[in-house]
Amino acid sequence: MVSYTDAVTHKCGCWRITVNRRKFCQSTLAVATVAALFPAHRALAAALMEIPGDIDAITAAGQQATLRQASVQELADSLRGPLLLPGNQAYEMARQVLNPAIDKRPALIVQPSGVADVSSAVHFARENNLVVAVKCGGHSTSGKSTCNGGMMIDLSRFRHVRVDPAEKLAYVSGGSLLGLMDHECMAHGLVTVAGTVSHTGVGGLTTGGGFGRLARRFGLALDNVRALDVVSADGRLRHASKVENPDLYWGVRGAGGNFGVVTSFEFNLHAMDRQVIAGNLFYPMSRLRDLLAFYAEFSMNAPDELATDLVAGYPSSGKDGFVLLALCYSGPATDADKIMAPVKSLGKPMLGEIKSVDYVALQRSGDNTAPRSTASYLKGGFPSEISPQLIDTLVEGMEPHPDRSVQIIFQQAGGAISRVPAAATAFAHRYAQHDMIATVSWKPDAPAAEHVRYIKRYWSALQPFTHGFYTNEADEDNARMVNKNYQGNYSRLLGIKRRYDPGNIFRLNANIRPTA
Ligand SMILES: Cc1cc2nc3c(=O)[nH]c(=O)nc-3n(C[C@H](O)[C@H](O)[C@H](O)COP(=O)(O)OP(=O)(O)OC[C@H]3O[C@@H](n4cnc5c(N)ncnc54)[C@H](O)[C@@H]3O)c2cc1C
Repeated sequence: MVSYTDAVTHKCGCWRITVNRRKFCQSTLAVATVAALFPAHRALAAALMEIPGDIDAITAAGQQATLRQASVQELADSLRGPLLLPGNQAYEMARQVLNPAIDKRPALIVQPSGVADVSSAVHFARENNLVVAVKCGGHSTSGKSTCNGGMMIDLSRFRHVRVDPAEKLAYVSGGSLLGLMDHECMAHGLVTVAGTVSHTGVGGLTTGGGFGRLARRFGLALDNVRALDVVSADGRLRHASKVENPDLYWGVRGAGGNFGVVTSFEFNLHAMDRQVIAGNLFYPMSRLRDLLAFYAEFSMNAPDELATDLVAGYPSSGKDGFVLLALCYSGPATDADKIMAPVKSLGKPMLGEIKSVDYVALQRSGDNTAPRSTASYLKGGFPSEISPQLIDTLVEGMEPHPDRSVQIIFQQAGGAISRVPAAATAFAHRYAQHDMIATVSWKPDAPAAEHVRYIKRYWSALQPFTHGFYTNEADEDNARMVNKNYQGNYSRLLGIKRRYDPGNIFRLNANIRPTA
């Protein structure tokens, strides 16, 4: 089990002076003293401040409630990390998620410094009947990591990766981002499976699935989890592995945050060369139909070491539509030419080339350099195949528009992902060869309705070609299909949910309702 002591000691070097913390924090003078003596710890000092009064909240049942000042004070005093309340600048920062179309206001935000804080926060939420939103990378496009009137547990101070190269293991704390994990592991010539954008959270990505450039080779991110630590709804920390709490270990790998807050993941690592053969090749939109047909065949015949994604879209100018083939081959470089030969037969792209690149740099290459600059909405599902009929529907529905950007994304699956039996983890969609996403983005201050309507309309034509959806991409429209989407794993998941979160405080996910 990983310990967070190092990180906490660093942050809270002033811990000794807060021994009699309850009394100390009654005094605003004490707060000012901490802030003055330890400027780096101003955020901590903020947490020591007196809670000014009662706080309005919304219960899990959707009713208005009041959190009494004394009980919130008690929570604040029990924490080592900050408790953030409305009206505070740090609160305004922390409540944000990547998608600015999501604008929610939790009643209170806890930024745990370690497991003990997570546990205190969960206790408080349960006792006060609050919904808990767990935020790791904040990438849930539908805003599953925030809420109105409940408690947000923001894991952004909970980022740490320790690699054990001899055992080929990485201990990754629950708020870590993918880039940190890639960076630390590759320093030892080791990798595990991560998504394609380095600021996505390990927490959300892994608990729902985890597709990425290496997934066809090594399985989903969740297939690489050897053990995890979870704070469940009773506030208890549980270690889960094949031999300890095996039901929890099984369920967390695919049913997201339904059972609690994952405070630590233990990942299996694999030796891999730092250099991979990769390329982002751009072609004009006029080639969409023939590139989709090419992709359908090429991706199905790819070896496990090759990940090919296809993205087609129009930027918000409504002009210069493009088709992007994103390739990453992590096998022996000597085989790369032969494997990429069909791509070369497509002719010279408008932009891009296939070459040897640093894997960690490639993993960062798609990062958002201006986070929260566009609002977005998406729909996704697993297509049964990329058939000629699906291609026709995709091409016909792709509409340029001056005020929005639209994209169709195929992320390749299959390979090692499909060789895991559907009942081996809670993730049931092992048959999928691709994940298909239709997404739209627009300026955050512009009205959303027209753009959301467009993608819903487009998706209503595409959905019949899909068979199930990726829980990490689910939104409120998917709610009534969630149980079915867990397929043969649902009834076992229901039992685990009833055991670890009978009151359903962890419901902001592809939710298994314990009362079903
Ligand atoms: C730009 C971008 C790129 C993406 N690329 C990929 C990709 O390559 N492959 C892929 O598979 N997916 C990808 N996704 C989808 C991604 O898997 C989901 O959005 C995922 O939920 C993000 O995790 P997060 O921790 O960043 O999100 P958050 O919004 O912080 O959390 C999402 C959900 O996970 C839960 N959660 C987060 N951390 C924990 C934890 N420690 N314990 C318990 N529950 C937790 C939250 O409660 C919430 O329900 C991408 C999304 C975006 C926006």
